[in-house]
Amino acid sequence: MGLSEKLQGAHRDAPARVLILGGTGEAFEIALRLATRTDLQIISSLAGRVSHPKQPEGIVRIGGFGGVDGLTSYLIQEDIAAVIDATHPFAAVISRNAAEACQGLGLPLIAFARPPWVKTKGDRWYEVADMESAAAFVASQKGRVFLTIGRQALGAFKLCKDTWFLIRAVEKPEEALPPDALLILDRGPFDLEHELQLLRDHTIDYVVSKNSGGSATYSKIEAARKLGIPVVMIRPPSKHHGKTCERIDEVLTSLNHLLLHGIAQDDFR
Ligand code: NAP
Repeated sequence: MGLSEKLQGAHRDAPARVLILGGTGEAFEIALRLATRTDLQIISSLAGRVSHPKQPEGIVRIGGFGGVDGLTSYLIQEDIAAVIDATHPFAAVISRNAAEACQGLGLPLIAFARPPWVKTKGDRWYEVADMESAAAFVASQKGRVFLTIGRQALGAFKLCKDTWFLIRAVEKPEEALPPDALLILDRGPFDLEHELQLLRDHTIDYVVSKNSGGSATYSKIEAARKLGIPVVMIRPPSKHHGKTCERIDEVLTSLNHLLLHGIAQDDFR
């Protein structure tokens, strides 16, 4: 069956299968908003990083695909008609793999990217390109640092020997922590009052954060601004050069456009 038929036309009775690459609140919401559609079958894919992930509506599969080749095979085997990439702004590998696999198969890819936070009046940001630059900055300062970057890249900070770290993560990190660190296991969202209290209780001098955008983790940035605490802000990596949607509604509109009008691939790359 051709792609046009998968998306529309002759096989109206068989729903088009749409793969959502997830692991974010937005991916969860997209799955929820598409759940009642009888013309679609939604499959959400999670990397499997956390042991009890919030279960999206529809079919859920967990674990890596095995690079571009593995993802390509999966898309063929599962008869996927379109892919929605709604992964986290810092999950660059899976997004590049999805772009390459979809391009190779001529499959439409609808990419969602949350706009990054923008520095505002009162913010004291040191913007850096990557985790290593953030660690080098921290190593050049002394003080008490709130390290809120998840648990995957903590290794970059192990050389910061003169720094005390407050580390917050959803689950226990696999990597060794920096030598002088207190680990808090907690899952957001956290409100502003909570974040202000945390920064005050631990007399934090610097916050280190990914510029992840969105509202779910923004309170720590707001709290730092209110207390005049500098933030070492890590810029998001470039994912791919295709067109991206910045709002969930745009994703759904693009998908509807695709289903109604078939493959206008330039619209989705
Ligand atoms: P990544 O560096 O872009 O991807 C590394 C590998 O993990 C990929 O090559 C792929 O393995 C697998 N993978 C990633 N996302 C997947 C998905 N949705 N379904 C199946 N396999 C996936 O990604 P990451 O930064 O480790 O993030 C992993 C997941 O956590 C993402 O889905 C992301 O949305 C979510 N997340 C990430 C962050 C963050 O800060 N990075 C924060 C919140 C949530 P194969 O090559 O074997 O296919």
